[in-house]
Amino acid sequence: MTIDSSFSTEQRRLADLLRYALLDTPAEPQFDDLAALASQICQTPLAAITLIAAERQWFKSHIGFGMTETRRDMSFCDHAIRTPDALTVIADATLDERFSQNPLVTGEHHLRFYAGMPLVSPNGNALGTLCVLDVEPRELSTHQQNALQALARQVMSQMELRRTAAENAKLCVEACNSARRSQHAASHDALTGLANRLLFGERVAQCIDKARKAQACNYSVMFVDLARFKDVNDSLGHAAGDLLLHTVACRLSDSIKRSTRKAPATVARFGGDTFMILLENIGDRAIAEGVAGQLFEDVARPFQYGGHVVHPNISVGLVLGEPSYDRPDNLLRDAESALFAAKAAGRAKLAVFDAKMHEAAIKRLQLEDALRNALERNELLLHYQPVVSLESRDLVGFEALVRWQRDGKLVSPADFIPIAEETGLIIPLGRWVMGEAIRQAAAWRNAYPSRMRLRMAVNVSRHQLQDRQLVSDVQRLLHEHQLDPSTLMLEITESVVMTDADDARRVLGELRALGVRLAMDDFGTGYSSLGCLHYFDIDVLKVDRMFVANLGQRRKSAVLRAVIDLAHGLGMTVVAEGIETLEQAAFLRAADCDYGQGYLFAKPLPAKDAEAMLVRPPLLALSA
Ligand code: C2E
Ligand code: MG
Ligand code: MG
Repeated sequence: MTIDSSFSTEQRRLADLLRYALLDTPAEPQFDDLAALASQICQTPLAAITLIAAERQWFKSHIGFGMTETRRDMSFCDHAIRTPDALTVIADATLDERFSQNPLVTGEHHLRFYAGMPLVSPNGNALGTLCVLDVEPRELSTHQQNALQALARQVMSQMELRRTAAENAKLCVEACNSARRSQHAASHDALTGLANRLLFGERVAQCIDKARKAQACNYSVMFVDLARFKDVNDSLGHAAGDLLLHTVACRLSDSIKRSTRKAPATVARFGGDTFMILLENIGDRAIAEGVAGQLFEDVARPFQYGGHVVHPNISVGLVLGEPSYDRPDNLLRDAESALFAAKAAGRAKLAVFDAKMHEAAIKRLQLEDALRNALERNELLLHYQPVVSLESRDLVGFEALVRWQRDGKLVSPADFIPIAEETGLIIPLGRWVMGEAIRQAAAWRNAYPSRMRLRMAVNVSRHQLQDRQLVSDVQRLLHEHQLDPSTLMLEITESVVMTDADDARRVLGELRALGVRLAMDDFGTGYSSLGCLHYFDIDVLKVDRMFVANLGQRRKSAVLRAVIDLAHGLGMTVVAEGIETLEQAAFLRAADCDYGQGYLFAKPLPAKDAEAMLVRPPLLALSA
């Protein structure tokens, strides 16, 4: 505590007093010894050590009156501290009118004699007294007076010692708390308060160690992934995202506590939307699966935020303890592989690790590595699938579909596009596809002027829409190849509608302003409505092939008819994907669907085979 010199003497005294009095307990036995010594030397029945504040007086020693505080205005000590350097001696209080009203004098105690030596702090403030009292009037010898003064200094230095000890103790407690806090921060996730990766790794290591010593693997680990967290973050904002993570963290912890009946378990957050759970006493597959099943149920309860309702969904990868696990890394790696399998199996699924998953994970890693080199090694190529008019049977355009020629085999985009999206490789890959498709479209238009109305459709993933260069890239390429922008049609999927809707709308608006046309791909598989197609200014609706495949079902057929009518009403044209049979083609034509694409007409073809179709369009029979 620092005291400004502008404070009055009394204020400074009080501040000083607080440092001594309030740090400690009101009365302290160790001061009793000094008081007893004073009473012995001065031969008085009573002695006391007191501290005096504005209104109150504390006794630091026990004086036997059964009283810890008294009023200050009539106190002997109050008079004593006014002469800080000298001893105050009142030989007979009954003869001194200053104390004639003092209850100690007038009341049952009948005090008459008082001698008090102020306790002066190192700052020079008189904080209280060491005093001796008697019920008889009397005097003190010089020797007794000197002794009382010396003892007062002794009391003061005791107090000073106590104060510094107390302050040090306080500092020590603070340091311990802050060390504990920083230790906690280093091992816990700041947002959810769950264990972090580091602490989780340590616990898993301990578990592995314990299992090795006991020669029994009675533990399991779950890798939990929260689905569509990014959608919430992007559409409702980061505060909603944080709250969702926090809510899910609480639900996971509570669920685990309940279903394991508080058996040792650690729930951790590994950052982002991934969580880890270690069940220390559960190594049995059926029991662990039961715990996971409960997790799905407990997490899925609706989460409400600002009028929106989200149903949190998780995927879980489970791995059971095995003697072969000698490091946490391997265990976590396998839990991740199991999670990957769970996610691939669909929403809200559990997968239990087996060795095949490990092989698949290794394959995936190798694929990712090879994909990085594929671009440089010119291993990518485009196939073109014809799009035909269901009415005139004319070839109206192509959809460019990427292929990867890897070690002499063609890899399907279904196998590598998701990896490209996860790793960000989709950006250079998408740029290459765009450049190549535009180049090819321009080349065919130049070579076959009669095919001026031919369109080229290019698939654009939602990650590409987040690429700031996309619009300028497309503009530059169209200009470079002198291609009419309306030739180009960009296919986006419904996932774009779900996430970053406003940003996507802005980018799509800029692309449309260039004269490029837009198609909604795989319509009917996601969540979008016809209303949102309008919001995005979509020109073409591509009905997903699952819809077409199910045309045999009456209700599906009726829905498809209605979708086509509504799309037309909104000024869009409709392409049906995946037409494989004449019946499907006939139905779609009767339902007024404009265009079709599918194996019935042609599979995606290498450029030279597609070009052959331009030269000599195939004859397509469209009636069954
Ligand atoms: P998509 O854009 O819906 O492409 C249509 C897919 O359906 C193609 O598969 C095509 O070969 C297949 N298909 C066409 N007709 C039929 C049919 O009659 N029956 C069946 N069963 N399938 C048919 P593909 O080429 O394997 O492409 C799969 C997906 O990969 C595409 O679906 C698209 O989403 C994505 N993709 C392909 N190329 C690219 C690309 O260059 N960039 C991006 N971002 N995605 C691409
Ligand atoms: Mg497509
Ligand atoms: Mg499609």
